[in-house]
Amino acid sequence: MRKQIVAGNWKMNKNLQEGIDLCKSIIALTSEVTREVIISAPYIHLATLVDLCKGTNLKVAAQNCHHKQSGAYTGEVSTAMLADLGLDYVIIGHSERRAFNAETNSLLAEKIDAALSQNLKVIYCFGETLEERKSNVHFDLVRTQITEGVFHLSAEQMTKVVFAYEPVWAIGTGETASSEQVQEMHAHIRQVITSKYGSEVAQNTSILYGGSCKPSNSTDLFSQTDVDGGLIGGASLKVTDFVSIIKA
Ligand code: PEP
Repeated sequence: MRKQIVAGNWKMNKNLQEGIDLCKSIIALTSEVTREVIISAPYIHLATLVDLCKGTNLKVAAQNCHHKQSGAYTGEVSTAMLADLGLDYVIIGHSERRAFNAETNSLLAEKIDAALSQNLKVIYCFGETLEERKSNVHFDLVRTQITEGVFHLSAEQMTKVVFAYEPVWAIGTGETASSEQVQEMHAHIRQVITSKYGSEVAQNTSILYGGSCKPSNSTDLFSQTDVDGGLIGGASLKVTDFVSIIKA
């Protein structure tokens, strides 16, 4: 049985005290939840959040990492440092990092290796732009993002990777992909994984949807056969919205 997961990506939002308050509220309201719940916060909040989440169901993720373990990389944070904090996950390949930091699939493959080498689990994000969907290259594009990002991994390493399909045109825009579009792409993703690793690995891989997911559409999205939860941006910043999505 693959894991059902809801992960909140706070991006560059919340000061430390706001993050502590939000984290405490989520812990208080999700103690009975069976889904795995993850919060992904700015680097400087992570140590505090890991401490707060000890002994609870809530897991903590970084939003990025460097691909090297140490050295002269001013301003960067290594996966060794993240693992040392006791973190569970790291998000790799978010479309904002692909777009604003020119992160390529091959760099992301190196980041994934760096994370797995430190026993961190990975949420690997990918998805097409509106132009790519309009040009009808979205299925091939996603196949390439997966192939170049993770196909060098062993089947055993794949058990540590969660996929997040995030169409760029739906992130932060209020425009959600329809549940049919999402199911169609998630089935494609599972088929791509099957073609390399076989159906057992593919069936055990969690594939999350991300892009303007909110309380009003999460139940419909999460009820699709190949949707195993969501990666939530804007709506993860408001406790009532996030908890309602977690419980969808
Ligand atoms: C995201 O940034 O991963 C995301 C899904 O954002 P939003 O929910 O705000 O579209």
